[in-house]
Amino acid sequence: MKGLIIVDVQNDFCPGGALATGGGNDIVPVINKLMGHFDFVVASKDWHPSNTLHFEKWPIHCVRGSFGALFQQQLNVLKIDEVLLKGTGNTDDGYSAFEATNMDLNYLLKKNGITEVYVCGIATEYCVQATATDANKLGYKTFVVADAIAAVEAKTGDTEHAMATMQQLGIQWISSNEILL
Ligand SMILES: [Zn+2]
Repeated sequence: MKGLIIVDVQNDFCPGGALATGGGNDIVPVINKLMGHFDFVVASKDWHPSNTLHFEKWPIHCVRGSFGALFQQQLNVLKIDEVLLKGTGNTDDGYSAFEATNMDLNYLLKKNGITEVYVCGIATEYCVQATATDANKLGYKTFVVADAIAAVEAKTGDTEHAMATMQQLGIQWISSNEILL
């Protein structure tokens, strides 16, 4: 059984947001098309308190309940089975969807018989990478959907480096076309 993990497709990570990625809006239609092809779909949200050590490292973003923390408005939320909230404490945490505090993602996937995990969303070199790395470590056959991710690319080459690091771990790349066949 195949599970789709949609990472942090939230306003603050899309153009105009506090921690924007250039391609944040462009991946949403792709993700919407993907959802129907999976047995189980979860989406994570960065869900920070207004004061957290996390904001010593990053501009203030995705404060729980704020506009920036909402899903990008075109995302088809009706197809999402569970929403995972992460980064909820006063620490620099919440990069991986497996760190969600409202539910245990590993347990959820196991309970639904998921053995293959496909990761998409934002941002490639932070939360997507952390989520895919954890999934792989937990023994799931792990794919990243190459045309359904968006990067911050604070430094040129960050995305390539992240992709190479994931590939070395055995995480595989796939395009949405291969899934939608
Ligand atoms: Zn955050």
